[in-house]
Amino acid sequence: MKVVCPYCGRAAEYTDSKTVYGRSYGMIYLCRDCDAYVGVHKGTDKPLGRLANRELRRWKNAAHAAFDELWRFGSFTRREAYAWLSRQLGIPIKKTHIGMFDIAECKKVITAATDFKEGLKPC
Ligand SMILES: [Zn+2]
Repeated sequence: MKVVCPYCGRAAEYTDSKTVYGRSYGMIYLCRDCDAYVGVHKGTDKPLGRLANRELRRWKNAAHAAFDELWRFGSFTRREAYAWLSRQLGIPIKKTHIGMFDIAECKKVITAATDFKEGLKPC
């Protein structure tokens, strides 16, 4: 499968994840120049989303941390939390995957989660 790096537009390398993690968690698509990569769906060579560089990975981690708190410690189930998030972002539930989000969407997740925790946003 041909996967293009969204940062430089060149073909990403299909390689084992131990290249970046030092340990194998399966295959990834990697752009060494951009320090960008993405995993694949188990047992396939289909990427999980776009390649993410260091900055985007940082935002995704922050968005996940803020969001996961809602269903881990809150009154939401995980499924309800994703339904809530899809309403907050105005996108279909099927597309509500933080792994697929860009930086702007990650920021929206963090804002929505923070507002919710501060009681500013009812479910
Ligand atoms: Zn690149």
